[in-house]
Amino acid sequence: MRLKDVKLTNPYLKLPELCYERVEPSPLTKPFLIHANSNVAKMLNLDISDHNELTKFVNGELKLDGAENFAMCYAGHQFGHYVPRLGDGRAINIGTITNEFNEKYHLQLKGAGQTLYSRSGDGRAVLRSSIREYLMSEAMHGLGIETTRALAIIGSEHSVYRETWEKGAIVLRVSPTWIRFGTFEYFAHSKNFKELEALADYAIDECYPHLSSEENKYFHFFAEVMGKTARLMAQWQVVGFNHGVMNTDNMSILGLTIDYGPFAFLDEYDVNYICNHLDYHGRYSFGNQPRVGEWNLRALMVALEPLVAKEHLEKVMEHYGRIYSRHFLYLMGKKLGLDEVSNRDFELMKQMFGMLQVLHVDYTLFFRTLSRYSGDRKELLKLGLFHTPMNEWLDEYDVRLEQNSTSQEERHKQMLKTNPKYVLKNYMLQEAIDQAEKGVFSLVDDLFKIAQDPYAEHKEFERWAGATPDEFKNQKLSCSS
Ligand code: AMP
Ligand code: MG
Repeated sequence: MRLKDVKLTNPYLKLPELCYERVEPSPLTKPFLIHANSNVAKMLNLDISDHNELTKFVNGELKLDGAENFAMCYAGHQFGHYVPRLGDGRAINIGTITNEFNEKYHLQLKGAGQTLYSRSGDGRAVLRSSIREYLMSEAMHGLGIETTRALAIIGSEHSVYRETWEKGAIVLRVSPTWIRFGTFEYFAHSKNFKELEALADYAIDECYPHLSSEENKYFHFFAEVMGKTARLMAQWQVVGFNHGVMNTDNMSILGLTIDYGPFAFLDEYDVNYICNHLDYHGRYSFGNQPRVGEWNLRALMVALEPLVAKEHLEKVMEHYGRIYSRHFLYLMGKKLGLDEVSNRDFELMKQMFGMLQVLHVDYTLFFRTLSRYSGDRKELLKLGLFHTPMNEWLDEYDVRLEQNSTSQEERHKQMLKTNPKYVLKNYMLQEAIDQAEKGVFSLVDDLFKIAQDPYAEHKEFERWAGATPDEFKNQKLSCSS
């Protein structure tokens, strides 16, 4: 369907007015299309072949039929401290598309100007952070991890000041929901309980429609959010993703990865790695993420107490650790090519993480190399600083593999589909950004291809498959975006 034929709806605007502000986007000067995501276009049933039209659309200059633009209000715990009002300070919602499968996707322009919730911010997003979000959300999707997505990214000649002058960009983001834990916190802490209930009903209809007529629907809602969050945490840990800013306003009630900021994929394995340079105490360090997921669920739990008895919510939380561990075990078992996992395998995994940590092994490369392991240890031993811990672990792994009923060939095949050859490490994104800032976007195109299918060999992109060069390893990133 051409953009001009699309009919948007705006279900969120049926909520009480306190939930949002109606606001128009402020277009960027001299916009140009950098990349469009044909798979997301297909998902939305959109024909985006007219790039001129698409650019105008992403720049907020082309309002589609039925569009009513607005920013959402929310609050959140930032680094453990409650901030009573945040909201979409630089994201403007431009309507909802319902596709042929009756799936609803909410479109949002990130970087399209100020809103009521901008506080002292300029409502903009710079090219660098926009490229990071655009590519990384696709990479997470390619890895099978729940995430928001993006239809397109535009650049511009619009000057935006951060630590220095940069250029503004807009990413058109797409998600089945933009509701965050912090959206609930806003109404609970400001004691707007009528709005809180309306939001809960709306969130259930939007994300968990099978619960709509349940008697204890708010209780079941929390249980679903808890389960999805626990499983998302397991996915992040297993793939080696460090989000960096797990504030409750960056936690989706649908268990999606949202708000890509100073994130990182692990280079060499380090459980204590902190990607966010403002995170002085490591609250959001790689190893802490599952605990923070739990802490954030407790913040959501408090926000839901006006709707559900506390003791019932507490009961839900008792299952968090078990759901997380079970999912972690299942996913890590697949990475190791174990055809049936049991709790006993935790020991093998613990020993493996200890080994990876002391040997400074590149996390992604280790599993990819292990995916071809046939008893010859040469390639694996090359990955670490010295041999003994790897040999000791492989001795245990060999014993464990003997219990597998699948053939070695089948195991290799399955592991190569589970352990990506490529993840978008920050040094790769940075190279694409450095080029983009000079007006060259070919690396954005290349990394997008890798992102979409990280398990394929992509012989032409082999240079991205190795360990991260020493000078770029385990760096910290600025939050300024
Ligand atoms: P983030 O760390 O990107 O999740 O943002 C936290 C809060 O700050 C959200 O309410 C954002 O909308 C807001 N924010 C971040 N950057 C800007 C900006 N440049 N202008 C306005 N609001 C912003
Ligand atoms: Mg955010």
